[in-house]
Amino acid sequence: KGPDPDVVAIAERMATVKHKILVLSGKGGVGKSTFSAQLAFALAAMDFQVGLLDIDICGPSIPKMLGLEGQEIHQSNLGWSPVYVESNLGVMSIGFMLPEPDDAVIWRGPRKNALIKQFLKDVYWGELDFLVVDAPPGTSDEHISIVQCLDAGSIDGAIIVTTPQQVSLIDVRKEVSFCKKVGVQVLGIVENMSGLCQPVMDFKFLRMTEAGEQIDVTEWAREHLKERAPEFLSTIACTEVFDSSRGGAEKMCREMGVPFLGKVPLDPQLCKAAEEGRSCFVDQKCGVSAPALKKVIDKM
Ligand code: ADP
Repeated sequence: KGPDPDVVAIAERMATVKHKILVLSGKGGVGKSTFSAQLAFALAAMDFQVGLLDIDICGPSIPKMLGLEGQEIHQSNLGWSPVYVESNLGVMSIGFMLPEPDDAVIWRGPRKNALIKQFLKDVYWGELDFLVVDAPPGTSDEHISIVQCLDAGSIDGAIIVTTPQQVSLIDVRKEVSFCKKVGVQVLGIVENMSGLCQPVMDFKFLRMTEAGEQIDVTEWAREHLKERAPEFLSTIACTEVFDSSRGGAEKMCREMGVPFLGKVPLDPQLCKAAEEGRSCFVDQKCGVSAPALKKVIDKM
């Protein structure tokens, strides 16, 4: 039996891609797509040629997070063209192909597999330093497809995003085990939503009554602080939202022998940047999360 022609075609396409990175998570909603998007922005800002491929077929959020909602893919004689944020940052997602953004995509494995194959075979990326692949949560059809189509050995590695809760960490173990089984190196684990941090000035102050009512006393509290402790208003306050008393991701990494890449706090400004499709690195707004993300990316 000769080599699979699809695999040969994909290998030819991928010959111009230097590094391939998978972004995985055990659960949904932990910030995997946010991380993929910001990683792509960061690499592009370092002047690398970057491609971001969204294979979360049932819930593609990458177009929105890159500010590309409503854009369409164009076909040229070289293949499908990615949608470009900048000349060195191209994006491909099924989100660009849906006629109605609110339509549910209800596909079985073979159809998902066929689309992923087509993405890899037909998208003309040109020369890329990095192809970042944003996968859906878990270990399902899409993951098996991407690893088989790309050939696990040609993937530089996977980054796994988690939150500090045990329910998320348990599923990270499954992701690590998946990577080991299919032969993809784990580049490391990122603990996202690791505490809520923001300037005290941005907090809302509420007084709870015994009847369970919330009374907004923000104005009063700020005035009070301005008079008594003005320096306090410009400090950043953090609180652990999720229980990480059992050591969180860092401890798990030590146990599993995989690198820990760092913690990124919950930062309302990062959420805003993601909602608006912006890089969190360009202005000083994401003062809490951008340096943490940068540290993680430098460690990769
Ligand atoms: P996933 O891809 O894991 O399903 P998303 O990246 O879509 O998760 O993130 C879920 C939501 O949480 C999004 O609204 C995103 O902007 C927000 N979010 C993710 N990480 C952070 C963070 N560190 N601080 C604030 N909001 C975040």
